[in-house]
Amino acid sequence: MSKNADDQRNPGTATEPHIARRGLLYIVSSPSGAGKTTLARRVLAADSNIEMSVSVTTRAARPGERDGVDYHFADRAKFESMKDQGDLLEWARVFDNHYGTPRAPVEAAIRSGKDVLFDIDWQGAQQLSEKMPGDVVRVFVLPPSGEVLEDRLKTRAQDPPEIVAKRMAAASSEISHWPEYDYVIVNANIEQSVASALAILSAERLKRARLLGMSDFVRTLQSAL
Ligand code: 5GP
Repeated sequence: MSKNADDQRNPGTATEPHIARRGLLYIVSSPSGAGKTTLARRVLAADSNIEMSVSVTTRAARPGERDGVDYHFADRAKFESMKDQGDLLEWARVFDNHYGTPRAPVEAAIRSGKDVLFDIDWQGAQQLSEKMPGDVVRVFVLPPSGEVLEDRLKTRAQDPPEIVAKRMAAASSEISHWPEYDYVIVNANIEQSVASALAILSAERLKRARLLGMSDFVRTLQSAL
């Protein structure tokens, strides 16, 4: 079997063999204010083999957001042209703005055995599930109560009050999609939620279907017995 990029990056050792693996698409969805962004940042900081998918959006940057880091900020014409050229893996309209996932970085990452983390809504999760069913791992994050959700939206203080009210109203509809996900985390305690998110990642990485190099490894192992 020809060696892929992942093999070359990490050839393994005799005591700890490297077994090539296809990367997975780790999707995290939740209503705004459930703590999904913090959770995603913590997972990225804790694990160097997962990278964030940076979406394209037509919404204006919030204070502190950086172009190319938090989002690729684009006008509507640019967004539509990316869509038309097939450059987006999925896209959706959320709160009057358009959001989409650039295709190329995701495909390159999973080919090389790297995982990709997505902070996208249920519409995006559905589209990725249809397009790449064997690759998605879907996690829904719930707030521990309605009060906590409202508090988090208010103290975030970056959106005007009418946007906060709109997001509270939208939360119930977003939450109704929870049964479409593989895992659910009730985010009452961020440390516990990070531990759960990392446990899910570890287990999913061990799925047989993702371990592309396992047949070769077992064959070599058997030939030595
Ligand atoms: P925000 O404007 O607060 O950053 O994001 C609003 C919502 O859009 C969030 O639920 C977020 O998960 C979702 N979102 C962000 N990027 C994408 C994307 O590329 N695709 C989809 N489908 N949803 C996205």
